[in-house]
Amino acid sequence: MTTTVDNADSSTDVASTLGSVIDEVIRPQATVVDREGAFPRSGVDALAAAGLLGLASSTEVGGGGHGLRVVAEVVERLAAECGSTAMVVLMHYAATAVIEAHGPREVRAAIATGDHLATLAFSEYGSRSHFWSPTGTARTTDDGTIRLDARKSWVTSAGEANSYVWSSLPVAPDAGPMTLWLVPADSPGLTVSGDFDGLGLRGNGSRPMTAEGLPVPSTAMMSADGAGLDTALGAVLPWFLVLNAAFCLGLADSAVAEAGQHLTATTLTHTGAALRDAPVTRRDLARLMIRTDALRAFLGDTVTALETGRDDAMLRVLQVKALAGETVADVTDGAMQLCGGSAFRRELGLERRFRDARAARVMAPTTDALLDFVGRVATGLPLFDVANR
Ligand SMILES: Cc1cc2nc3c(=O)[nH]c(=O)nc-3n(C[C@H](O)[C@H](O)[C@H](O)COP(=O)(O)OP(=O)(O)OC[C@H]3O[C@@H](n4cnc5c(N)ncnc54)[C@H](O)[C@@H]3O)c2cc1C
Repeated sequence: MTTTVDNADSSTDVASTLGSVIDEVIRPQATVVDREGAFPRSGVDALAAAGLLGLASSTEVGGGGHGLRVVAEVVERLAAECGSTAMVVLMHYAATAVIEAHGPREVRAAIATGDHLATLAFSEYGSRSHFWSPTGTARTTDDGTIRLDARKSWVTSAGEANSYVWSSLPVAPDAGPMTLWLVPADSPGLTVSGDFDGLGLRGNGSRPMTAEGLPVPSTAMMSADGAGLDTALGAVLPWFLVLNAAFCLGLADSAVAEAGQHLTATTLTHTGAALRDAPVTRRDLARLMIRTDALRAFLGDTVTALETGRDDAMLRVLQVKALAGETVADVTDGAMQLCGGSAFRRELGLERRFRDARAARVMAPTTDALLDFVGRVATGLPLFDVANR
């Protein structure tokens, strides 16, 4: 398992371009996106126009050709400003990874130039967070067309994306556990079937979607019939898990910075002391900082393991989101406690980060599932119990 190794010059260019988009569009709209639960369309369009949605696409189709290190830095910085935008972009990059490997050239080229937003439609009402066991079907009809039927429970950017990487049962019953498809947004029979009114990431538009008799050509199949789980684990999972960890890191780091500024700038007029003058506040801030920096180091090591094809790369990938999801939940909770009532109100931006942070541990594979996977690797068991998948 390896990823492209990024060069330092091109990553500096990306950082500077991203900085401008954040300053001009993403940071100013973050509060409104959260308060109104609005999809961050202007931020996504600005990222597309700046060439940042094509970062993970290969240079052969006009993309940036970047590996996980640079792409993770982008997600981390976006998450520090607007969790909803970061999640939309994270899902787009995770979908891009599989489309790059198995999708049609015209879609790859459209992603590379920023004209196409993609996402993952895996989770279903039937199998819930167990994305490895789709219940939606793909059947061949009398006229030879393949028709998809499914009730997807959560699809980030639903109704906003141009295409959906879609999981189903295989067409041939014994072909394997899952088949992946690339479903265009304008497919007949595809509907967004509900709203998203979440605790956090309120603008990421993770709405339910339904496919009813949705026709797909056999060319829409990504990799072989029944081979979708291997593709999901090999091509999608490393990107999704590493980028999710970067998303958590961005949120945690910004919460620590916010807390540090608050402790420094806030004084008690009757004593003249700042909040930072109490040793206990410095100790608690230090603990949050160390947790966050430990996550940064672990994430860096995970990317290095992937870049160098280290034997423990897959293990690191499974571990990193479990670590990140729990770290960001604890760190944002601790930052709320440190900053007291000021954090409880919206004035600091901490409560938004606290709410956004709750998503990581329940996004599939959830922390529970990842801990089980890691335990299985540690004891020599297969990732999935085939009899009880
Ligand atoms: C903001 C957000 C965006 C999302 N975007 C997408 C998206 O773009 N595409 C997509 O496909 N999905 C997406 N999801 C869905 C996500 O990946 C999960 O499928 C979903 O959050 C699971 O919720 P649930 O209530 O169905 O969980 P359930 O499966 O009902 O699980 C409930 C709890 O039980 C635990 N649990 C379940 N089974 C076991 C077990 N066997 N052992 C131990 N514990 C277990 C889980 O860890 C979880 O904590 C998104 C979710 C969120 C929150």
